[in-house]
Amino acid sequence: DVQKVLREDLDISEISYKTWLSSLVVADILEDTIVLETDDEISKGYIERKYSKPIQIALKEVTGKLFNLKFILPNEKLPSDGTSNANHNKKNDTNDRNSILNNLNSRYTFNTFVVGNNNKLAHAAALAVAESPAEAYNPLFIYGGVGLGKTHLMHSIAHFILEENNISKVLYVSSEKFTNELINSIRDDKNEEFRRKYRSIDVLLVDDIQFIAGKERTQEEFFHTFNTLYEAKKQIIISSDRPPKDIETLEERLRSRFEWGLTADIQAPDYETRMAILTKKAEIENLNIPNDVVQYVASNIKSNIRELEGAMNKILAFSTLVHREITKELAEDALKDLITPNETKEITIDFITEVVAQHYGLNADDILSKKRTREIAYPRQIVMYLSRKLTDISLQNIGKTLGNRDHTTIMHGSDKISSELKEDAGLKNSIEILTKKITGK
Ligand code: ADP
Ligand code: MG
Repeated sequence: DVQKVLREDLDISEISYKTWLSSLVVADILEDTIVLETDDEISKGYIERKYSKPIQIALKEVTGKLFNLKFILPNEKLPSDGTSNANHNKKNDTNDRNSILNNLNSRYTFNTFVVGNNNKLAHAAALAVAESPAEAYNPLFIYGGVGLGKTHLMHSIAHFILEENNISKVLYVSSEKFTNELINSIRDDKNEEFRRKYRSIDVLLVDDIQFIAGKERTQEEFFHTFNTLYEAKKQIIISSDRPPKDIETLEERLRSRFEWGLTADIQAPDYETRMAILTKKAEIENLNIPNDVVQYVASNIKSNIRELEGAMNKILAFSTLVHREITKELAEDALKDLITPNETKEITIDFITEVVAQHYGLNADDILSKKRTREIAYPRQIVMYLSRKLTDISLQNIGKTLGNRDHTTIMHGSDKISSELKEDAGLKNSIEILTKKITGK
């Protein structure tokens, strides 16, 4: 993952990467220093001068921690405890080492996870599994939309088990990584090795499993991995952006296995939880942020927690950049691209009706009328669907505004679109376009 950040986020060209960075070997991980072994004297000097910063940034991105770097030659001795850190702490070392070996972000722990109504069940299930691997729920399947904390929870489980249990074979992978490793193992004729690796661990966490849908060979391999681990009473934890039943082109035998244990969902956070998350973040990072700024962010950024944090970071960066104190005015300035007037403006049923009618070449009056031809009834149902999805307005009131219809009619119309969406890519596309037009995002 560090390599990925270096290449993709920091934009280091492939040739530079190949020449200088790909052969670096992590020789040791100390509490706050990472020792990297280089090929020879020349590259050592050059890499140290030119690439120390990018490597540090990439490491920080992945582990959440700022490490010092030490470059050594293949035959050089590792620095002794004394030189690296006077208060050298053995246990921390082991944890850091484990975290990096296991692809874990050290910021993602139960301690930093805020529990709210939206994630209570998933959090409780995760903690139970962490405390009693393979005994509480197996597999544990966590699902929810982007940026709602699935990865954070999975890392929390892994950290907890690594720290509290004597189980060291904890492996966290994204399903993409699983797939890539499988492909490489097939290419390099190392399938046995791949199998040994995945079938000999105590706790396997696979993130974003939806990506293996449709990939037959990967599903096949994962199926066998799953069975082997499950039969050996090893814990399996899976995440996805949707429940097993909604992952199209997922093999039935996998789907049913995913439902063997416990399925827990994470919903979008409510206002109180958003406030709590921002407050916690400020506390962890030792920031002093006025309450009205926290409120402003929490009431305007609703869709996901990654964006919520991003907004806060933007305010911080902006404040540093222009040397201004953090106030609500500064926050408004910093976030003016993120919080569009459209978003702060309330979305009304009339507005949705207007946008949908225009999209289908109709008048708003047609939508409100009693006409039942498909050309009108269908857009009308889309209005019902979008009104439910994009506003908090009750079914009764949506019905009233939409030509005095009964709330059951609204529910029926909206559900119909919901279910058609699953099969109809064209409809899905239209809904996306309409949503953008309505929300301005
Ligand atoms: P997902 O994997 O569901 O897309 P992540 O786990 O990557 O989401 O979460 C996105 C960001 O939001 C991360 O920085 C994470 O730490 C933070 N986050 C999510 N849920 C919570 C929570 N309940 N408490 C604190 N931070 C959270
Ligand atoms: Mg994730």
